[in-house]
Amino acid sequence: MSLTANATALGRLMGPGPRMPVYLLMFVTNRCNAACDHCFYWSELNTKVKEELTIEEFDHLARNLGPMLQVTFTGGSPELRKDLPDIVHRFFEHSRPTNMTFCMLGHSTNRIVQHVEKMLRLCPGQKIKIGISLDGLGEDHDRCAGFRASSTAWSPPSESLAVLNIITRISAWTSA
Ligand code: SF4
Repeated sequence: MSLTANATALGRLMGPGPRMPVYLLMFVTNRCNAACDHCFYWSELNTKVKEELTIEEFDHLARNLGPMLQVTFTGGSPELRKDLPDIVHRFFEHSRPTNMTFCMLGHSTNRIVQHVEKMLRLCPGQKIKIGISLDGLGEDHDRCAGFRASSTAWSPPSESLAVLNIITRISAWTSA
């Protein structure tokens, strides 16, 4: 985001007229493959999937919000939405946030890489930060995230670091 766009976003907070938000925390889905002990809304996970906002609704929201400093995409696991890059593109088009951050479970490694590749293609120059959930090392993480008895058990940090390395390479490649 340019200095002018930053000033526009800040003017929404400090200028005359109605105050408008410059930070958005967007829950894009309540789908999640984990079952964390500490989850604040575990009873609602993987329910009401049909009530998720559509691309058109995200477009409408972003268009109405206008310039933002920060948009954070969370869930659930936002990477589980196949159309995540298209959602992100709507906010890129209408809100041009300085930063976009993603709070991901990190379980669907290939999906994350595909999403990031597409997001960087659709949103050239956009700063993207990927946060991956780490609740401990090895078994500690799996126990905390509810994977103990699951065949899908995940063992950070090795996989998460692999994802981050791939994404770093993608990022370096697209910005070259
Ligand atoms: S990853 Fe997040 S949404 Fe999923 S169960 Fe854990 S705390 Fe809840």
